[in-house]
Amino acid sequence: MTQNPGKPVSPADLRALDIFEFAKSGRQAAGALRVSQMPRMLAEVPADVPDRDTVFTWQGEGSTQPELQDDGTEAPQPYLRLAVHGSVWLTCQRCLQPYSQHLDVDATYRIVATEEEADEFPLDDDEVEVIVGSRQFDLVDLIEEELLLSLPLVPKHGVCPETHESLLPGAAGDEPDESGAADEDEKPNPFAVLEKLKPGGSDGKKH
Ligand SMILES: [Zn+2]
Repeated sequence: MTQNPGKPVSPADLRALDIFEFAKSGRQAAGALRVSQMPRMLAEVPADVPDRDTVFTWQGEGSTQPELQDDGTEAPQPYLRLAVHGSVWLTCQRCLQPYSQHLDVDATYRIVATEEEADEFPLDDDEVEVIVGSRQFDLVDLIEEELLLSLPLVPKHGVCPETHESLLPGAAGDEPDESGAADEDEKPNPFAVLEKLKPGGSDGKKH
């Protein structure tokens, strides 16, 4: 065993991984990725949370499985298994407050050489996805793609924290239809910021 399973792969290597070699030699790798390294994920994170640059851990494992070819012979087919875990801040669509959403990805990919081959692959197995491999495969992009796909359709708290609005008569009824994005780009009111700095000025804002 000359391999070093779980050895962190440098960020540069992650963007240009020889995925065929990775699978063929049964390599394993693991690491951590910040949300700030994944711009499309970062775009989902509300701007007003203090620690928006959360960290995801990932593990990848290459393997091959013998498969019957068109010519009747068996050949090793490369596979990749990918697991990603972590949390990201999202905006609750019920109360419009930020909350921390845990995301888990556990996916298995059959790696093919070309788009044509990917199209030909019969999709009779829900457990396995097909990806087009490369000698300079962008693993960060795949991880980001999977995290985006694992985002909830409608992000919301399991149970929204109590707010003063919920105590008002009639506030528990229909959810408003507006997206609530109207004041997202506004600068924070300096007086509101001062208010938060006062002791006891942020009651009920724990997360
Ligand atoms: Zn909520």
